Amino acid sequence: MNDQQGDRRFQENVPLGKESWFGCGGTADVLFQPEDIDDLALFLKDAPPEMPVTVMGGMANIIVRDGGVRGCVIRLGKPFSDIDVKGARILAGAGALNGSVASAAAKAGIGGLEFLSGIPGTVGGAVRMNAGAYGREIKDVLVAAFAIDRKGRSDAFMTEDMDMRYRYCGVPEGTIFTAAAFEGLKENKEVVRARLKEIKEKRRETQPITEKTGGSTFANPTEEQLKAAGLESGLRAWQLIERVGGRGLTVGGAKMSEKHCNFMINTGTATAADLEDLGEELIRRVKTLLGVTLHWEIRRIGDRPPT
Ligand SMILES: Cc1cc2nc3c(=O)[nH]c(=O)nc-3n(C[C@H](O)[C@H](O)[C@H](O)COP(=O)(O)OP(=O)(O)OC[C@H]3O[C@@H](n4cnc5c(N)ncnc54)[C@H](O)[C@@H]3O)c2cc1C
Repeated sequence: MNDQQGDRRFQENVPLGKESWFGCGGTADVLFQPEDIDDLALFLKDAPPEMPVTVMGGMANIIVRDGGVRGCVIRLGKPFSDIDVKGARILAGAGALNGSVASAAAKAGIGGLEFLSGIPGTVGGAVRMNAGAYGREIKDVLVAAFAIDRKGRSDAFMTEDMDMRYRYCGVPEGTIFTAAAFEGLKENKEVVRARLKEIKEKRRETQPITEKTGGSTFANPTEEQLKAAGLESGLRAWQLIERVGGRGLTVGGAKMSEKHCNFMINTGTATAADLEDLGEELIRRVKTLLGVTLHWEIRRIGDRPPT
């Protein structure tokens, strides 16, 4: 990386965890912030295939382990945050904030994308997670996603070819989304704005949005899981957590929120290991006491330091 020294697009030993919503965790060996798509494509084409590459968006769904992230972390910032509106369609860069897409849609009188205002983070992260809220998810409004693969080749995916399911996108891991095209319905601007406001208020009431958190810790169990465990249909992850005494449970500086007990929070002194250990304790309890295996929705990256 000698020829990259002094290049502000590349930084070494960056305290990445501090930039996550949890505000804790380790460093990135190298952080690369490409200045445009060509810059990103060229970097990937030339990068040694054995070098680990991880892409990050708003880091609203991430625990960065305390031992840090090897290889190169790529963040798509401002150069990837354009939002263009045409009719009922919106083309947004992968670095654009979901909230900005929701606002642009409301301003243009495009309905159906209001739910994005309740999902922190970027378009790239939302596509990868098939993020959703209030009965809608990305796949309901996504027309196509544009991407670059690990070898620097451009690609485009129509939604129906992306195998998008509950908090899952079937496009191979390692693919970097660079932009996404969404479609809503032309509607009265005031009606769309009113729905946007309603969602923002509901979030404030039900989620600890001013805390250091990563959103829902675990995915909701499937109906098959609940049935196999002899539990009532429709139970959500937070209800299973509540039943095993998880509301307010703490490990070190990590705590399950009193307000929404599927949200984990850093009370100020948590390490990434505290957060992860708290999650693992809940997985153990829910499995032992209720017979259901909870699956992490939050992504964990990097290494745990040796104990
Ligand atoms: C207060 C709060 C409330 C939340 N509420 C919700 C909610 O209601 N519904 C919901 O679904 N989520 C919710 N979340 C979680 C989070 O907002 C979503 O998962 C969001 O989509 C994450 O986007 P991000 O840009 O922050 O992704 P990151 O956290 O940075 O990354 C998440 C994953 O996406 C990948 N990724 C990021 N960018 C790209 C890219 N350009 N190309 C390919 N892969 C990429 C990363 O590698 C990682 O695997 C909440 C989080 C918080 C903190």
